[in-house]
Amino acid sequence: MTTSSIDLKQYIRGIPDFPKPGILFYDISTLMRNADAWQIAMGRLTAAVAPWSVDMLAAIESRGFLTAAPLASRLGCGLVMLRKPGKLPGQTISYDYDLEYGTDSLHIQADAIVPGQRVVVMDDLLATGGTLAASIALLRKVGAEVVGAATLIELRSLGGRDRLDVPVKTLVAYD
Ligand code: AMP
Repeated sequence: MTTSSIDLKQYIRGIPDFPKPGILFYDISTLMRNADAWQIAMGRLTAAVAPWSVDMLAAIESRGFLTAAPLASRLGCGLVMLRKPGKLPGQTISYDYDLEYGTDSLHIQADAIVPGQRVVVMDDLLATGGTLAASIALLRKVGAEVVGAATLIELRSLGGRDRLDVPVKTLVAYD
């Protein structure tokens, strides 16, 4: 079998009722544990993101860190972290966004982006798109030109892609 025909879905595990009843959690641990499968995933993501001529990847805490760090190394671009409150040292800029119940907030270091830099935002999974939409808003607040978003997994039925006003690349989709 050639690497181009390998279906990465066989390495992604769905765990029912995690973290709460009714949620089917897509676990990338089993993908990462397999050295060959993880290499293939990172190679495909690199090929998907490279045409955007990226200055910086922005990684969403926490599984976005795992996908963005190897990619930044492969692309030869920088990496910045988007984190939950109280995690980043120094001056930070934040963006508050609504969740199903309550609100949450993402932070970035105030000097992380040079205005006009071409940034791609990354996470492990696109569901409703709320997290990526908030990340894009935060990046724009600090002057980034957000040229795209990329994730390993997309849950298509939730329509997250339609909430985002940037091009989106995903490797594996579930209906
Ligand atoms: P959303 O903001 O609805 O697009 O949710 C995306 C964020 O929540 C990502 O950071 C994912 O890691 C996490 N997430 C949402 N739904 C799932 C799921 N079914 N399995 C694993 N992670 C999920």
